[in-house]
Amino acid sequence: MLGAIAGDMIGSIHEFCAPPPDDVPLFQPDSHFTDDTLLTLATARCLLDGEGYTKAYRRACLENPEQAWGLRFNAWAQSNNSEPYNSLGNGSAMRVSPVGWWMNSENEVLAEAERSASVTHNHPEGIRGAQATALAVYLARQGADAATIRGRIATELGYHLSEPYRELIYSCRYNEVCEGTVPPALTIVLEADSFEQVMRMALSLDADTDTLACIAGAVAEARFGVPSWIERETRRRLPQEHLALVDRFRKAVS
Ligand SMILES: [Mg+2]
Repeated sequence: MLGAIAGDMIGSIHEFCAPPPDDVPLFQPDSHFTDDTLLTLATARCLLDGEGYTKAYRRACLENPEQAWGLRFNAWAQSNNSEPYNSLGNGSAMRVSPVGWWMNSENEVLAEAERSASVTHNHPEGIRGAQATALAVYLARQGADAATIRGRIATELGYHLSEPYRELIYSCRYNEVCEGTVPPALTIVLEADSFEQVMRMALSLDADTDTLACIAGAVAEARFGVPSWIERETRRRLPQEHLALVDRFRKAVS
C-alpha cells in the first residue's frame, strides 16, 4: 500500500502543470498525500476490519473536508442517499489496490474490486478500471512477468495496452476517467525496470498526475518493492494514525 501512497505524494505537486524536467526531485517540501491516499487507506480498513465500503469512503470524505474531493463524490458523501452515481471516474481505480494484496485468487480479486467500485462507480468503465488495477497488483505480487500481466489484463478486462510509453508521452492528455488513466498507468509499470523509473515516467505524462502515479505506484510496489529511501520520504509525510494502518495492513498480508 505504501507504493500507492508514495505515488500519490510524488504526483501531488505536478497536477495541472507541464511535466517537470526528467531529473526533478521526486519528493519536495510540499509533496503531500491527497484523497487518493485517504481512500486507499479506507479500502484497507474495510478489508481488515470488515467495515462497509459506503461507510468507509463517506467517512474519509467527511473527516477530511480540506481535501480537493471530486464534486460528485463529495455530494454523494454529504447526502444521506447511499445510491451509487454511475461514475466512470478514476477514483475507483486509485482506491482499490489493497484488494490485490488481500485476496487469494483472481476471481476473488475481481469480485471484491467490483464491490469496492460499485458503491459509487457502478458504471461498467468504473468497475473495469478498479478490476484491472487490483488484478495487476495481485498478479505482480505473485511474481507474474510483464507479458503475463499484460495478457491477463487484455483477456480478462479488454485493456490491450497497445500504446507504448514512447507514444503516450505525446498522446496522453489530462483526464479523470478510468479508461484514460488506468491503461497508461499499467503500461508504464510493465515497461519499467524499477519503482523509481515508474514514478519518473508517470510525471512525464500529461495526466491526473497524483492518481496515475498512485495506481502505477500500487502495481510497482507489487512488482519491484518500494526503495527504502522512497519509503522513508513517504512515511515522514504520513500522520501516525495512517502509518499505523499501513503497518497493520502490511503485517496482515505478509
Ligand atoms: Mg488526488
